[in-house]
Amino acid sequence: MNKFKKVLKEINKHKNFLITSHINPEGDSIGSQLAFLYLLKVMGKNARILNSGKPGPKYKFLPNSKKILTKINKDTRYDAICFLDCADIKRIGGIYEVIDLSKPKINIDHHLSNKRFGNVNLIDSRASSTAEILYILFKEAKVKINKETAICLYTAILTDTGSFNYSNVTSFTHKVVSHLIDAGVDTNNIYKKVYEEISPSAMRLLGSALSTLKLSPNKRIAWMQITKDMLKKCGAGLGEQENFINFPRSIKGVKIAILFTEIAPGKIKVNLRSNDDIDVNEIASHFGGGGHRKASGCTIKGSLAEAKKKVLSEIKIAPFAFPNGAYTKCRI
Ligand code: 5GP
Ligand code: MN
Repeated sequence: MNKFKKVLKEINKHKNFLITSHINPEGDSIGSQLAFLYLLKVMGKNARILNSGKPGPKYKFLPNSKKILTKINKDTRYDAICFLDCADIKRIGGIYEVIDLSKPKINIDHHLSNKRFGNVNLIDSRASSTAEILYILFKEAKVKINKETAICLYTAILTDTGSFNYSNVTSFTHKVVSHLIDAGVDTNNIYKKVYEEISPSAMRLLGSALSTLKLSPNKRIAWMQITKDMLKKCGAGLGEQENFINFPRSIKGVKIAILFTEIAPGKIKVNLRSNDDIDVNEIASHFGGGGHRKASGCTIKGSLAEAKKKVLSEIKIAPFAFPNGAYTKCRI
């Protein structure tokens, strides 16, 4: 039995579901959860989406985004939990303490670092997004993708592929997108909603972050930082820095880009991007995080200076795997 059929078989065993994803949900996690909610509904199931936080304002246009709950009653019944776009069970955030994790778990994801914590695991790290995997699941289930679901899946793929530019894009990604457009997606409208409704405070924060840009002597590593003070001065909130990492990443010759954000006193969020075939998932995993080969993240306890020192020295010594199996060391 193929992996998709195994998931459908597991779904068919139960009636009531919880759907969840990682903390600080972005396009793929929100879009995939909403699409999955629809799939379960068509399959005759009861389902609720429960996340540790609400979607950011720019994703509110997604149909049914209001159905994403951050709290449930203690007596809410669920027979199984579906994890979407969530590499590690602890990444679900605060609800980890609230939900009954002894229930059967269905784990659908495309992260290289996925810990396969489900009773059923549908993981494909070559897929551009969790949404791309869901598209195949819809086909296997013979469920027609309606316009609202197409909008969710399209937005998920758009955001996880950097508008179809990253190396995770294949001809299959474009085939999926073509079908989603045929289902009625207004691509121009979604582009505007996702990328052209930047708040003035986020724009100020970008300017401020760019002014902290540093390069290693050989210009292969670029990093920036965001302090609590910068957030306050710009009137910006955490989460408004999504995509800032693309600026240092796009500097000529840069192989690794890093953004250090002080999310709380003594707590630093680290976003990592790799331009070449350097595996930043390895670096993030070293600090208890994870992600993909070319995009990963972790949280480090300590000051900004300490986090920078730790990450930069890890980059210096980490053996990086190239797709052909060769290893190299990146000299700063
Ligand atoms: P971003 O830099 O856009 O927040 O995340 C890039 C990728 O790394 C995403 O796939 C995201 O899920 C993953 N990621 C970011 N932070 C963490 C983390 O702290 N732990 C794990 N396991 N993955 C992370
Ligand atoms: Mn994803």
